[in-house]
Amino acid sequence: MKRLYLDYNATTPLDAAAKTAMLEVMDYCGNASSTHADGRRMRQFIESARKKVATYFQAIPANVIFTSGATESNNLAIKGFKGSVITSAIEHDSVLKARNDLIICPVTPDGVINLEVLENLLLQVSSPCLVSVMAANNETGVIQPLKEIAVLCQKYSVKFHCDAAQVVGKVDFDWGDLRIDMVSVSSHKIGGPQGVGALIVDQSITLHPLITGGGQERYFRSGTENILGIVGFGAAIEVCLKKDWKPIARIREKLESQLQQIKGVTIFGKNTQRLPNTLNFTMPGVVNTVQLMHFDLNGISLSAGAACSSGKVKTSHVLHEMGVPASVIENSIRLSLGIETKPEEISRFLEVWKILYNRTLAANEPQEVTRRIG
Ligand code: PMP
Repeated sequence: MKRLYLDYNATTPLDAAAKTAMLEVMDYCGNASSTHADGRRMRQFIESARKKVATYFQAIPANVIFTSGATESNNLAIKGFKGSVITSAIEHDSVLKARNDLIICPVTPDGVINLEVLENLLLQVSSPCLVSVMAANNETGVIQPLKEIAVLCQKYSVKFHCDAAQVVGKVDFDWGDLRIDMVSVSSHKIGGPQGVGALIVDQSITLHPLITGGGQERYFRSGTENILGIVGFGAAIEVCLKKDWKPIARIREKLESQLQQIKGVTIFGKNTQRLPNTLNFTMPGVVNTVQLMHFDLNGISLSAGAACSSGKVKTSHVLHEMGVPASVIENSIRLSLGIETKPEEISRFLEVWKILYNRTLAANEPQEVTRRIG
């Protein structure tokens, strides 16, 4: 049986448009920094991709700095900013581990940044200051109140950085209206190749580069550009605007209502606005490592929270910060659908889920009977 991939928040398949664009560039040789015709052709490819990324964010192309992905973009924004940084407790590790002097703002039990605490922190913090909050959480899909955060940042004259890795192409934000000072984006979350991304940096920001050398990317990021990656990324961001996630949201909602009827199932962030494709929930009494193995053996790929470089399942700091007990966190898995996911695939997922659920129930029953008898 064909494998079923339900881990699109970890990475997405390469979009046909990205593949075509990359294949075209493969036929050419040239360093974009060279002044001869071969170099200039490569420069054109890069600048065309830069324009596409800028168009998506309603930014000027010069503000787009290509990086190796959202991890590097987050590091550049946070390490490169000289001043205090306030961030939320549920950020990706590439934010939380970028510096050890971060000021952490808590989240509500629904996984939304606590705006009251954020304002209190802004009242006390020394200047200059940067607020870094993700647009949507990769584990729960919970969308953060970017407009309200941007208004607070303007009120207290602090800069705002947003890790938009999970929202691009899935949620419509009016990026021009939000006027966020820095935005991180990753190519492989939107149908582009892995190992490339961007940081959009407003001209008013002074950032110290992490990588120095030849002065590429306006001195923010030296090194010969990853031209294949950049071109694929540009093509992917251009087409992702045309994707309609409403049918996927409906599939997710149907599954969610089916799961809600099952005893003991907890769905995280269910009272909030979430990404159309993400569902984080528990199977009571079954640790997620066992669930993942069961799904894998049945041809289904999904994960428990964030993908970890060690390949291990680590306890979710996101759910922990939402006040979820460790005994419940260990039963949680994350389903993330793709634009191509079909209703019948989710029915197959639910069938496989129920096999393990019923098996666990049956295994526990004799003990309960014993307990009752005893
Ligand atoms: N931020 C968020 C919210 C993410 O989901 C990810 C990827 N899991 C990253 C940053 C890191 O992105 P990349 O893989 O491009 O380094």
